[in-house]
Parts: sequence; structure tokens; C-alpha cells
Amino acid sequence: MSRSDDPLVGTGFRDRSRAQLGQPFLRQAIPRATDHTIAALHDRFADVDVAALRERGRRIRAETIRDLDAHLETLVAAFERNGITVHRAADAEAARGRIRSICSAAGARRVVKVKSMATEEIRLNPALAADGLEVVETDLGEYVVHLDDDRPSHIIAPIIHKTRQEVRQSLSRVAGRELPDDTAELTGFARGQLRDAFLSADVGISGANFGVAESGTVVLLTNEGNGRMCTSLPRVHIALMGIERVLPTLDDLAVMLPLLAGSGTGQLLTSYVSMISGPRREGEPDGPEEMHVVLLDNGRRALLGGPFEEALHCIRCGACQNVCPVYRQVGGHAYGWVYGGPIGAVLTPLFRGFDDGGELPQASTLCGACDDICPVKIPLHDLLLKLRRVGGGRAATRRERAAATFWAFLWSSGVGYRASIAVGRLGLTLARVLPARLRRGPVLARWAAGRGLPGRGGRP
Ligand code: SF4
Repeated sequence: MSRSDDPLVGTGFRDRSRAQLGQPFLRQAIPRATDHTIAALHDRFADVDVAALRERGRRIRAETIRDLDAHLETLVAAFERNGITVHRAADAEAARGRIRSICSAAGARRVVKVKSMATEEIRLNPALAADGLEVVETDLGEYVVHLDDDRPSHIIAPIIHKTRQEVRQSLSRVAGRELPDDTAELTGFARGQLRDAFLSADVGISGANFGVAESGTVVLLTNEGNGRMCTSLPRVHIALMGIERVLPTLDDLAVMLPLLAGSGTGQLLTSYVSMISGPRREGEPDGPEEMHVVLLDNGRRALLGGPFEEALHCIRCGACQNVCPVYRQVGGHAYGWVYGGPIGAVLTPLFRGFDDGGELPQASTLCGACDDICPVKIPLHDLLLKLRRVGGGRAATRRERAAATFWAFLWSSGVGYRASIAVGRLGLTLARVLPARLRRGPVLARWAAGRGLPGRGGRP
């Protein structure tokens, strides 16, 4: 994909995050929504040996990716046995081309879609619209994003950045009248619109949370039921699947389902788990006449066997975004591409190159919260550090580089370390005593304007 395909890329992280920081709603909404998910995750897994489950998840992903080609071969053979047509796409353009030609061959006029970050990654919707197709996103959040010509800002919660009033305005535009400020009415209106779309669509397009090699099954996890409608009502179903989303066996899937649902939404299982193993067979009452899977590379294969291979273990649960102190302030759009938070800071430079994403690895405090929550134990902060080295710290200003050099010098000796801690402690004590004056002070005014000072014991 070229840079010109993507309107978000082209401005820097600093500018984008400054713009996001200017939206007070965002900085309240993200912690509110993500804290709820994190609390639900801890609740749901209270009686589960999470450490053992995560370790199983890590092992499954590591072993699968290490032998990716063999598992893909098994998967493709199983898909084909099940009557699924498989296409391989080396990059975004090839994937778009495949999907466009399938739609064209089907004589499609209307397409319904299930939420899929892979289709966001390849910028599928504008390409289909350019072919004159009507594209309807059917996940409620994605539907609103699409109406507003916006982009999702979180892997799992695409409209975490929108207020209910904004959603009401978007839906009112479609209705041609002011809809009431009532969640049930708003969702009821959207449901009516989407029901018509499901019934009249020619093609349904989804992603694939996983593809199970032993059975040739595309697995889709949703909470709204739209996935089933999209994949069973239209005549043709196309699933776009990143090549890394393969799982060898159904037993592996049984480990991944609670890990993904728990980490993503705090559920033990999502409301709907669709396991699709081919088009409608004779005697079956529903399902598409044709099913296609497009296997997307788009930079993934290049990571195999290299220092960033672990990035391919990601199952896109979004948990690292939820806990990241940087993401929680600036939101997903600041990252400039499809994926936000720590995994976005890793994937964007790897998939798009350092010209587009080279500064993102700097957008981390390296606190390690993402490592601690990742259900498949990806060492995100290690990957970020490696990327900083590879990218040559290109986002840092000269002043920041000088400060980091001085800091490294200071902390490389016991005396320097103790001296800096003493100075820090003194600074915090002063800040607690004179917070108002500190905020007005010339040196830390900008820094303090967006931050709360820790109280005694380090609590905010
Ligand atoms: S890196 Fe880990 S926590 Fe982040 S989205 Fe991927 S699987 Fe989830």
C-alpha cells in the first residue's frame, strides 16, 4: 500500500497526539471503558490458572509461527477439501484485487462486512466503493465509523473515541430526523438498517480470528450476531485472513478462545463463536453458495525467523492498548495507522517501514504493563527497544537524545543513580507542597498541565 492510499499517515505522532490530547472526552472515555474491561478480565479469570493458560497460549503461537509454512499448507489443503477457494495475496493491493474480482464475478452491488482489522489494513472499503459497490459495515461501532468516514481507534472497541451524542448525530443523519438520546432507540434504529442490508447483500466479507488447519475452519468471534448474518445470508462469503492467524488444531483453538475473549472484552467466551467450514452443502438450509479465503501476507512473512518474529504471535485482543499509559492518553488515532497502542507501535514500522512508523516505538514508557497482560506473552517492550535500535531513535529530538545520554551516564554508576533518586524525591516533595506554583512555573508548566502529580506512596 502506498502512503497516498492512507490519509492518516503523513503527519507525525507528536502532531497527532497533540490533536488527540485536545479532546478532553477522549481522556475520560478511554480509561473508563478500558478499566471496566481490565476489571472484568480479572473477575472472569479469578478461578483460572491464568499463568498456565497464558503459557500454553504462548507455546501454541510460538510453535505454530516457527513452522508457519507447514501449517499453512495443511490449512489450505483442508480449506480446499471443504470446498473453499483459497487465494494468496502478497500485499494489500493484491488482496484488494482478489476481493474486487470475486465481487465483480458475483455481480455484486451490495456488500456487508464483519469488523475486521485486516480489511482496515488493506483499505478495502474505499476500493470497493470505487467499483460502485455499496459497502455496509455491520458491527455497530464500525457502522458508525463508516458513516462518519472515520477510522476505528481501538482493535476491539472501534468507537471508543466517540460520545453518545456524536453517535446519535451520525445515526440521525441516516434517519433523516433527530433520533432520541436513548441507547435502546439508537441501537434499534441501527438494527433495522442492518437487517435490510443483510437480506439484500450479494457478498459478505469477514476477517478470520483464526483458521484451524486440521479441520479447514474459519473461526469468527463476535458479540453482536452480525458475523453469522454476514457469512450465511449473502450468496458469497469472502474471509480475509492474515497468514499468521493459523492454528494447527481444534484443541489449540480451545486454549485461544478464552484467552482472546478474556483479554479483549473480559468474557470467558464471546457471545457468538462461528466456525465456518465451507459453503452450504446439499441439504443444508443456509450458508453461502461460494466461499473464498484470501490469505494476506503484507509484510508478515518477512518477519519469520528474524528478531521480530514474536510480533506474529499477536491474536489482536487489544489488551495491551487497554493498559498502555500512552495509549490511554492519546487514543488510537495518534498512532497514524490501523493498529494502536504497544502492538501498533511494533507492527506499524514493521509492516509499513520506518518512514511511516519509525517514531512509534518511542511512544512508550517501557513500563511493561503490556507484557504483563498480553495473553500470549509477547515481550512487547523488548520488541519496542529493538525497534528503537534499528530505527536509530529517529523520533527523538536533539535535546531528548542529550537527556537520555546524560541519564545513561548517571545511572551507570551507583553514586549517580542514588544522587538522581535523591533529586527526584526532593522534586516530588516540593511538588506536593507547592503544586499550584509548580504548575505555573516556567520549566514544567507544559508537562504538568496534562498530568496529575503522585500523592504520598506514589498514588495519584
Ligand atoms: S500484543 Fe498481545 S495484548 Fe496486544 S493485541 Fe496482541 S495479543 Fe493482545
